[in-house]
Amino acid sequence: MLSISDTNKDAQYQHTATTLVRGAMMRSDFCETSEAMYLTSGYVYESAEAAEQAFIDQDRFVYSRYGNPTVAMFEERLRLLEGAEACQATASGMAAVYAALAGFLSAGDKVVSSRALFGSCHVILAEILPRFGVESVLVDGCDLAAWEQALQGGAKAVFLESPSNPTLQLVDVAAVSEMAHAAGALVMIDNVFASPILQKPLELGADVVVYSATKHIDGQGRTLGGAILSSDSFYEDYVQPFIRHTGPSLSPFNAWVLVKGLETVKLRVEAQSAAALSLAQRLESHSRVKKVSYPTLDSHPQVTLAKKQMASGGTILTFEVANKSSAFRLMNALSIIDISNNIGDSKSLMTHPATTTHRRLGPEARAEVGISEGLIRLSVGLEDIEELWQDLDQAITA
Ligand SMILES: *Cc1c(COP(=O)(O)O)cnc(C)c1O
Repeated sequence: MLSISDTNKDAQYQHTATTLVRGAMMRSDFCETSEAMYLTSGYVYESAEAAEQAFIDQDRFVYSRYGNPTVAMFEERLRLLEGAEACQATASGMAAVYAALAGFLSAGDKVVSSRALFGSCHVILAEILPRFGVESVLVDGCDLAAWEQALQGGAKAVFLESPSNPTLQLVDVAAVSEMAHAAGALVMIDNVFASPILQKPLELGADVVVYSATKHIDGQGRTLGGAILSSDSFYEDYVQPFIRHTGPSLSPFNAWVLVKGLETVKLRVEAQSAAALSLAQRLESHSRVKKVSYPTLDSHPQVTLAKKQMASGGTILTFEVANKSSAFRLMNALSIIDISNNIGDSKSLMTHPATTTHRRLGPEARAEVGISEGLIRLSVGLEDIEELWQDLDQAITA
């Protein structure tokens, strides 16, 4: 019988490329080539005694809100990729962010977070957690002195995103982790923009990594998903009980899509990141473009840090045109690149953050994190780079 214990926690392939294709494969008695999709909510027992024993030992699947073989394959493969002790899959990236924070924090605790966050993460930190008595302090993530000051008197957790969405500001993960640990805080990072391929937060000192698997891990626009990666003790004490009893579990169908996504995530992210750098460089010398932001461009204020903590700059760049109407004119002139607020997809996608993903923030909060009316975000896909550039160039000139 298949069970979670069939995945060998010590089965490490030497290279990431091999792990992504073969890691955590649980073959059934039918000897299938591809990972099986177990679309089942429940499990049956040989006897009443076996059912009783299953609830005592907790070493087999009893209900898919708790665990499922296809979901377990996804969790184990991602865990091997990240180099974490434990991985919990969730129904979406936001479910992962919320479960990591709400599972860990209690009324009276303080969390310090970088201000430049994905819109919904900002809502959790600034609005939802404070309703339950959690004190939430938002700081400029680039400013180490601001972190230091906010951490005075201690904190329970630090939450950060690097690079940030959409302004691509970096947080020095190693330096902030050191300060956070000295203040007694646990460090959680939303590593979506860098992806598990380009940035290894646990090696930099972070304690908990959260993903929207919707982005690069699927990367083909098919499904929502998320994950929390942590130590065994954080998983057992905070993540597992919260997920089991509040229910944001990943569906086995979506887990299967994500397992197959992991097989190609390295190839996709490396190719998309190389294309993003090339497009960023070309945009920078375009006369109609005011400003380009990409972590590994020499013009990025944190380029040294980017090269230190990321393997490459990532699949997303932003650039600025004169104002909202020039941004809209440009987007409406695109013929290949789609207008969409998703990122990390194999299709190149463009959005105007001020009127879409970050509309809810309001003009003041947008200005504070540097989201102007002329700012455009481009998530670079897998199309031919010359064809993409032609599309961008004709749209900018339109
Ligand atoms: C998309 C995204 C999320 C949320 O993920 P969902 O899967 O859409 O719930 C969180 N953080 C960042 C940085 C994201 O890009």
